[in-house]
Amino acid sequence: MLACSFSDALCLRYTHAKVKSCVKKVRAFLDKHVPTLVVLALVILALAFLQHYWSDPAKAQTIGALFSFIASAILVGVTWEYVRINQKSFSLQQAQWEQQNRVVLRFGVRRYRGRAQVWVANIGRIDFLISELRVRLKNGEKIVKNERRIVGSGSRRTFSLPDKLWSNIPLLSTFDVQLRYESQHESGHSAVRAFTIFIATNSEVLKVLRGIEDIWPVNCPKCGHFGGGMVTESLDNFDDALERELVMKSELQATCPEHSSQWSESVEHLRERRKNGQGTVQED
Ligand SMILES: [Zn+2]
Repeated sequence: MLACSFSDALCLRYTHAKVKSCVKKVRAFLDKHVPTLVVLALVILALAFLQHYWSDPAKAQTIGALFSFIASAILVGVTWEYVRINQKSFSLQQAQWEQQNRVVLRFGVRRYRGRAQVWVANIGRIDFLISELRVRLKNGEKIVKNERRIVGSGSRRTFSLPDKLWSNIPLLSTFDVQLRYESQHESGHSAVRAFTIFIATNSEVLKVLRGIEDIWPVNCPKCGHFGGGMVTESLDNFDDALERELVMKSELQATCPEHSSQWSESVEHLRERRKNGQGTVQED
């Protein structure tokens, strides 16, 4: 009985906590030493049996064989567990290695001295090479620029864009950018991202925005008339835009001749967006 100077309830709680901690300690001990205890118990048991049946060689031999079999079974079990743990640790190491050797890049377009350029940041642990810069214009035209520049871990590099994107273009230009990268262990393509650049009358780039900030007219596939401008908010690239355009076209067709769609851009909405610059990030 535990002698307690404080109230019974507190005493009970104290005893309960003490028992709980004892059970925890015993469980931890057993978890750690169960295989050793089992082997030890078997050895003691085998010795006891052998001593008991020492006078009868036939029985002693049988018991010896039985314990040899049990010992072999334990050995197989331990080996199997060892292999299993090793495999688990190997998979973990492999996942860690892959994580550390993965190419992690961020990119965007920014304004620089009246022109636009692509910036690429390497936030991974290994260096990589940018081997290609792909630009796709709204009319579907593709420009591929071969590059041979290494972006070191923790650094940022810039790549020039073709002048064609802003020279002699009135007001604005929208295009997709994608990069091809190569590292010691992998090669691949970045995500495809759309950017809109605003251009002055002297062909100087004024501002760069992420996303498609252009007017996107859609005709009704049934009657061929103009069905409305499409909302281009939160579109990552032209492929996304074409997908949305298909949805809008089917809705225009279904509601012809009223032509209504969830993606129809209203003048108020357009004005609001222009005012707030919502859904876009300035890259300058
Ligand atoms: Zn129509």
